[in-house]
Amino acid sequence: MFMYMAAPSASPVEDNSIGWLSEEWISHRFCHDSRKSSFKNSTNSLEINTGLSHSGVMPIYVNRLLNLKKIKVVGFDMDYTLVPYKIEKFEKLAHSLAINRLVQNYSYPQEVGKLEFQLNRAILGLVIDKRNGNMLKLSRFGKVKIAYHGLEEIDFRERQQIYRERVIDLRDADFQSLDTPFAISNGVLFAQVVQLKKAGMKLPDYRHLACEISACIDSLHKDGTLKSILKADFGEYVRRDPQAAPTLERLKVYGKKLMIITNSDYAYSRILLDYALNPFLTKHKNWQELFDLVITLADKPKFFASPHRFLRINIKTGQMSNHEGPISRGIWQGGWFGDVQEGMGIPGDEFLYLGDHIYGDVVSIKKLCDWRTALILNGLDDELKGIKATHEIQQEIDRLMKRKQFLERQSDNAELEHHTGNRVQNFETQADEQDALNFRISKLLDNLKPHFNPYWGEIFRAGIEESRYAEQVEKYACIYMTKVSDLFEYSPRTYFRPIRRLLAHEIIQ
Ligand SMILES: [Mg+2]
Repeated sequence: MFMYMAAPSASPVEDNSIGWLSEEWISHRFCHDSRKSSFKNSTNSLEINTGLSHSGVMPIYVNRLLNLKKIKVVGFDMDYTLVPYKIEKFEKLAHSLAINRLVQNYSYPQEVGKLEFQLNRAILGLVIDKRNGNMLKLSRFGKVKIAYHGLEEIDFRERQQIYRERVIDLRDADFQSLDTPFAISNGVLFAQVVQLKKAGMKLPDYRHLACEISACIDSLHKDGTLKSILKADFGEYVRRDPQAAPTLERLKVYGKKLMIITNSDYAYSRILLDYALNPFLTKHKNWQELFDLVITLADKPKFFASPHRFLRINIKTGQMSNHEGPISRGIWQGGWFGDVQEGMGIPGDEFLYLGDHIYGDVVSIKKLCDWRTALILNGLDDELKGIKATHEIQQEIDRLMKRKQFLERQSDNAELEHHTGNRVQNFETQADEQDALNFRISKLLDNLKPHFNPYWGEIFRAGIEESRYAEQVEKYACIYMTKVSDLFEYSPRTYFRPIRRLLAHEIIQ
């Protein structure tokens, strides 16, 4: 990933649009002394963007130019974007309800109902291979870098036998991508049930397992089962961010139109937003006053794919009425992005949409319309803490890898000399040093593991390459951040700029 972290403005009214952020400023603001020299030699943000700011506010990461001054409409997804959930509690609940459905509706053995949720068993961006019953982590090139069958890792040799150099094509129906925090319970449950099957339990084939687990979890979301439990105790499952409402009000003060586009229904959205936003508003009576447009049951990504009719929702009664064509201020259901643009009379490139679903909120928008995009990635702060904590280990690995490459070149040269009949010097000594280096590097790699997911490592990395998830973020999200309120530190007129990225041949060693 090559990207740039934007600097928060010193004042909410400061215009950053013409300001070029100096290297010295960045070093002072975000880098330890030891990082100053490495920044000059590299544009890799993972080397420099690993710290929280002094105030604890997370920065915003920039993949491509985005001038907030030109943005007239800021739209938000709701679940896990405007309103974050406590992921472990939420997904544990989904897992527990899903295993009950597998037993009751699909006649799975009672033992399945005793499975306990293990959050670490899945991370965002993994892919389920329905044909082989595996869970995969892919590189940006679609190559399998880590694979588990059930709860056991598949070793390198076996992985090569199954996947070889194949590029995984996610358009193939045999693969299912875990694109949102709501899919974590799906991944965990699939791995656990495959493990039971591996241990000899009589269960359907892997394709059926994958489809039935997904069907159970989807139905919990769609039939209102999960929402009815959440509604009864939002405090248990919802993580309120007191700074989210002031962030929205700031955008409003600057003349931005605000919009929600959510796949949740109106009744649920209303009470969730009452709970999450209203107590923290200071300039508006309630969230209905704050947002110009609220679109519920939007059915993203179809909302961006083809025209569908809007239904108008009466705020007082909740009753719906048919509507044709462009829409105006109010609360709606269904619809199509084209009628939103036409109703507001604002071109697509003056919309910015923030969402957490890498496909439904980000990739599909970039492919189907020209809105600007921002990804909200709740787990990014944990990953950044890990990167910061392991910075020195990573530097030592890099140093040893350079020495290893040097010795390999010398060995290759010695081999060449041997074949040409010349005397070979120090060959055995070098072989011993290479063994020692391999051992040391392997130990250091082990030391990295406790700082990240113990099974899958970092969300954004697949070995030394970027992960497929990282590739999607870089390609389709103009900016990304951990939460909506990270915007609070930035003027609504900020010019987010990426740094010039270096290609492999441009890096001076
Ligand atoms: Mg969402």
